[in-house]
Amino acid sequence: MPSDSALSIVWIYPDLLSTYGDQGNVLVLEQRARLRGIETETIHVRSADPVPEGGDIYLIGGGEDRPQILAAARLRKDGGLHRAIARGAAMLAVCAGYQIMGSTFGGEEGQPVDGIGLLDIASTRGPARAVGELVAEVDAGLNLPTLTGFENHMGVTRLGPGVKPLSRTLVGVGNGDGFEGCYAGHVVGTYLHGPALARNPALADLLLSWRVGPLAPLDDSAYEALRQERLAAVRPG
Ligand code: GLN
Repeated sequence: MPSDSALSIVWIYPDLLSTYGDQGNVLVLEQRARLRGIETETIHVRSADPVPEGGDIYLIGGGEDRPQILAAARLRKDGGLHRAIARGAAMLAVCAGYQIMGSTFGGEEGQPVDGIGLLDIASTRGPARAVGELVAEVDAGLNLPTLTGFENHMGVTRLGPGVKPLSRTLVGVGNGDGFEGCYAGHVVGTYLHGPALARNPALADLLLSWRVGPLAPLDDSAYEALRQERLAAVRPG
């Protein structure tokens, strides 16, 4: 059970979904909260366990097709994540986790598989695997710097009217429609690995601020050096 006093971070299904170091998103959130004097507790929810509904920020990562299908079935049956989001929790869902949030996604043979319907999106298998660096300009409403990360997925994602694009893709594929990711309320979906929050600490702060309010600035020079190195690698000169 999440405690009442600490900010609770819920890491969903580390046994099924955590490719490309997505668990680093948990570490970045913990560190950026603690540097502001905010106590945190992290709950690792394995796929055999119920998802607690009283958490503050939920994180789910990328994964291979079969664990993705299993994760979607378990989350749908469990229902805890739906209740948490209905109570106002924030969420970052990455790649396979992002696709799972929609109505449907493509399985390992391209067959449609039911998602959990937390975001108004639908994914299918695209014509080719999208692999490489992603750079994207964020929706002006969110006031975030350029997103950087990398992608590795077959899926393409169509956004419905119930979500807004998170960003416009400058380099890479993202959703496959010129946009990268989406958001609705306090739920953010993205194809960005990196981990996404290490490459984009402002996105970590957005998730934190949705739960705790305005945050004091931090010395982000180490993050900024990483960002500049990665952005320069894809946009030489
Ligand atoms: N299996 C999904 C796809 O290929 C997600 C991949 C991932 O999470 N990296 O689209």
